[in-house]
Amino acid sequence: MIVIKKEHELDAMRVAARKTATILRAVADRVAPGVTTGELDAYAAELAKAAEGRCAFYGYHGFSGHICASVNEEIVHGVPGGRMIRDGDIVSIDFGLVYDGFVGDTAITVAAGSIPLEWQQLLDVTKASLEAAIEQAVEGNRLGDISNAVQRTAEAAGFSIVRDFVGHGIGREMHEDPQIPNFGPAGQGPVLKAGMTFAIEPMVNLGVHQTEILEDGWTVVTKDRLPSAHFEHTVAVGKEQAEILTVADKPV
Ligand code: MG
Repeated sequence: MIVIKKEHELDAMRVAARKTATILRAVADRVAPGVTTGELDAYAAELAKAAEGRCAFYGYHGFSGHICASVNEEIVHGVPGGRMIRDGDIVSIDFGLVYDGFVGDTAITVAAGSIPLEWQQLLDVTKASLEAAIEQAVEGNRLGDISNAVQRTAEAAGFSIVRDFVGHGIGREMHEDPQIPNFGPAGQGPVLKAGMTFAIEPMVNLGVHQTEILEDGWTVVTKDRLPSAHFEHTVAVGKEQAEILTVADKPV
């Protein structure tokens, strides 16, 4: 069942999601050669504590991190630790925060130092595919319109869409109905209504779409070990246009 949030619930989600996005941006700003993913994780935990929120991923099915940090060929669910970021890496940071009973979930992929043009295109296209999907999150459209917008944008640029992991409804729980694939035909699936809240999160690969999971049981990598990018926003379906909830506060 897809939960439709009432206005006071949306207000609470706006607060939670804004805090989530503000922390994500601060952590992403620290991505640089020589920094470990564990250091980024500790910083996220510190910021979440200061924001009086709870890290949604920490302890989730036993996950040990406060963020997911996925480098290069790692698609999602990278476990933060001793991996040192190098010049030329791309790093996906995914962060979820619970605040006042609601969850925000957002991700960004950033470059450390200089990266090849093709990798930059991968980042740009993945971000554009998220933006195209968000444009479809309008009352009266179908869920498949969101999925199809991601697929069309990414594949038109010659990249491939991860099929094994998907976006999701979000609200009081991090994962609510429906699942939101990043591929599929437009015009199908449930009709969207204002007040539905979704975490839309395209995962786009430079090479093949197939994935593998590393021995840690978490880290999802591309089968061909070519790089992958991941962007995510928590959004509310609107009557005229979607509202992005995971908007960061302006820097002080
Ligand atoms: Mg998510």
